Amino acid sequence: MAWNVKPEELLQYDYKVPSKNWMDVPPEFHPGNWCYPGKPEIVNYLNDATHGKFPHAHQWVPTDEDWKLPENWREIVKKAFSERLDKYRSFKVFMDICVRCGACADKCHFYIGGGDPKNMPVLRAELLRSIYRGEFTLAGKLLGKLAGARKLEEDVIKEWFLYFYQCTECRRCSLFCPYGIDTAEITMMAREILHELGLNINWILEPAANSNRTGNHMGIQPHAYYDMMQFMVDDIEDITGVKVNCPVNEKGHEVLFITPSGDIFADPGTYTYMGYLMLFHEIGLDYTWSTYASEGGNFGLFTSDSMMKKLNAKMYAEAKRLGVKYIIGGECGHMWRVINQYMDTMNGPSPLETPVSPITGTRFENAASTGMIHITEFTADLMKHNKLKLDPSRNDHLRVTFHDSCNPARAMGLLDEPRYVIKNVCNNFFEMPEDTIREKTFCCAGGSGLNTDEFMEMRMRGGLPRGNALRYVQEKHDVNMLATICAIDRATLPPLANYWAPGVDVTGVHELVANALVMDGEKKRETNLRGEDLPNVE
Ligand code: SF4
Ligand code: SF4
Repeated sequence: MAWNVKPEELLQYDYKVPSKNWMDVPPEFHPGNWCYPGKPEIVNYLNDATHGKFPHAHQWVPTDEDWKLPENWREIVKKAFSERLDKYRSFKVFMDICVRCGACADKCHFYIGGGDPKNMPVLRAELLRSIYRGEFTLAGKLLGKLAGARKLEEDVIKEWFLYFYQCTECRRCSLFCPYGIDTAEITMMAREILHELGLNINWILEPAANSNRTGNHMGIQPHAYYDMMQFMVDDIEDITGVKVNCPVNEKGHEVLFITPSGDIFADPGTYTYMGYLMLFHEIGLDYTWSTYASEGGNFGLFTSDSMMKKLNAKMYAEAKRLGVKYIIGGECGHMWRVINQYMDTMNGPSPLETPVSPITGTRFENAASTGMIHITEFTADLMKHNKLKLDPSRNDHLRVTFHDSCNPARAMGLLDEPRYVIKNVCNNFFEMPEDTIREKTFCCAGGSGLNTDEFMEMRMRGGLPRGNALRYVQEKHDVNMLATICAIDRATLPPLANYWAPGVDVTGVHELVANALVMDGEKKRETNLRGEDLPNVE
């Protein structure tokens, strides 16, 4: 699906009030605003793997009139809706309590960057709520449209598919809602209901299926994963002269390290991956990688409750098999949302110990129930105790800003540790404007499994607020590097930056750490991990 619209053209929209009631505006599919449907063989695989949670696999195309829904699709939707109202108290509350105050209306990046009222969080939720009223409330049944209710028609299903896959489940809107309504969870419910009709997107289902089968989203087999690590070990030796240790699938170590597979697969994530290898070697960490739990991300979060639980359990099963005390998790976004928001009630209590740094003795009580700490917490603690020899001048050619990834920021409160780490390894750090960082950070617009190329128009529209803030620090402070602690961000932010703030590159925080890290026995460093000359090297 080719998409090639220039930024000036993309900015041709306004926020004027529509002349028609939203219920009378049909969904419009065009190249760049929807993702390809799940392939039937992938849907069937997941259906088998989850004992029937992904039924009705079929070929269909969103732009076709006929979506080939099962004959009894209305009954299926009503039953799926009703089951979730019974199972999730929060869902029932979110359906009942919105007072339409509008505080969330202008907080969604997709609305800001496109002006479509159905991308206002309040209206996104109304797409579902209007059916809830019509099917499950007396007022809705008696008064219909007057009570904000509508009938369940095929266009409603099409609208759900369009708009619940134009939500990145980033939860920015929920931050501003006086009632704490979490639109991301409403989106999760809508996607689950759509699964019951065989309607889903491949970019989410295939990584989830891969992860279930091979242990990681990319579908990398254990031997290939191992080979890729060895390439990195060789690259590190070329650059530093140090042959780092790389323990894999070894039993009896203290720590299991798990990070997203995207970082072993593609630049710039690979440099972050090399950064972990260098750091752990330098401090002599007693740890292992696993080629089975070779994925920190959990696309189950964007798929269904049961899939999320299954993929999360795999990490803990592997930790138990290897006999480690606890897990350190890498720079990932949604892995941390699953760990902090859902793991305890899904698969808890964790069979692991409360993490204690073997280098500093710090006990991470915040991770007592999950047995898992974030790499930037671990590294910040090393720095705080002066356990690393660092030369930040090696990063002096960089003028760095930091993008708070939605999940570590809003679902975990990990705000200060990454900044502390960056400031220890970079002399030039600049914040983006206040309303666009920390808890109020703007999404990369490719989260929740929407980081696919055919969705590029919406990604660039939704990327406008982040791109605008980036452009601001680029113009004001000559910022040329955007650091982030999420593998999806490392994939989605390069095209976003290139579109809205050309000239700004993207990095992981541990790439910056590794470049500044002075290793025992290293040769004179002449290049950074990307093979670029270091500043002040003759
Ligand atoms: S801020 Fe909350 S209560 Fe207000 S319109 Fe949005 S979801 Fe409804
Ligand atoms: S994309 Fe984010 S801000 Fe927009 S509705 Fe979804 S959760 Fe809310």
